[in-house]
Amino acid sequence: ERKAALAASTGPGATSDGHKVPLLANVGGPADVPAAVEAGAEGVGLFRTEFLFLDDSQKAPSEEKQVEAYRQVLEAFPEGRVVVRVLDAGADKPLDFLTPADEPNPALGVRGLRTLLDHPEVLRTQLTALAKAAEGLPVYLEVMAPMVADRLDAKAFADACRAAGLRAKFGAMVEIPSAALRARSILQEVEFLSLGTNDLAQYTFAADRQVGAVSRLQDPWQPALLDLVSLSAEAARAEGKSCGVCGEAASDPVLACVLTGLGVTSLSMGAASIPYVRATLAKYTLAQCERAAAAARAADSADEARAAAQAVLSGE
Ligand code: PEP
Ligand code: MG
Repeated sequence: ERKAALAASTGPGATSDGHKVPLLANVGGPADVPAAVEAGAEGVGLFRTEFLFLDDSQKAPSEEKQVEAYRQVLEAFPEGRVVVRVLDAGADKPLDFLTPADEPNPALGVRGLRTLLDHPEVLRTQLTALAKAAEGLPVYLEVMAPMVADRLDAKAFADACRAAGLRAKFGAMVEIPSAALRARSILQEVEFLSLGTNDLAQYTFAADRQVGAVSRLQDPWQPALLDLVSLSAEAARAEGKSCGVCGEAASDPVLACVLTGLGVTSLSMGAASIPYVRATLAKYTLAQCERAAAAARAADSADEARAAAQAVLSGE
């Protein structure tokens, strides 16, 4: 039965009553593109550009090298959406030439957008390379910054994009609780939000994502995390803008239904998860997803939230 459901799973992501939820792929570079196309991804929802920076620990890759890599990914999705995240260095993704070596708490230090604002030439090169890579292609390029904390961060990023002559939508990742709490203010500067639920869980629960001993608190079913997702999605809806999810949460088929019920507008995940999420979403109406979301948020633990959502969806 599962096989049949997966085989029947093609086309754009949607609930059974036709509410569209684009299913996008997380990629780390051109090598991940064939699997994304094969899975029927409607585009890329998170292009982690860190991979380009791993070859040389002393300096950033040249503009030419970046243009080439970005173009390969953009060309794979003609007419589709490609959301590129600018470099997210630091904490769990340190780079020798950019990341301070002496921070007591690297996850709370200079990482993500903070690193790029301290090294504007690295951000400028990346944005210029993206502008060149997208030239003449019919793709909907979107560019987003990791670790946006507040409106000032969002403005600094949008200003840098404009200064580089980038013709794209600019967005902010919601990975820090402050960004979810003040999402409407951030949306005064950028056109979309994308929830990075891995870091959002880490910072909401003060639980390092690399420490297995605290993994209970990293569970994306945690009701407090769902509350922050809801706040962000509501803010985007009020501003007439989009709010996707690109963290691991999107790859859990039942949680994907709950996220849809919370008002999230697209889901991005590893390519292998796309058929499962597509097949599960297609089984339920938007109203059922909303009821499952409400039941999950009313729970007091991740396990209870999961069980409550499952009970609603299976009609118990
Ligand atoms: C996240 O934090 O959820 C995210 C998508 O980014 P990364 O896992 O690359 O930090
Ligand atoms: Mg992150």
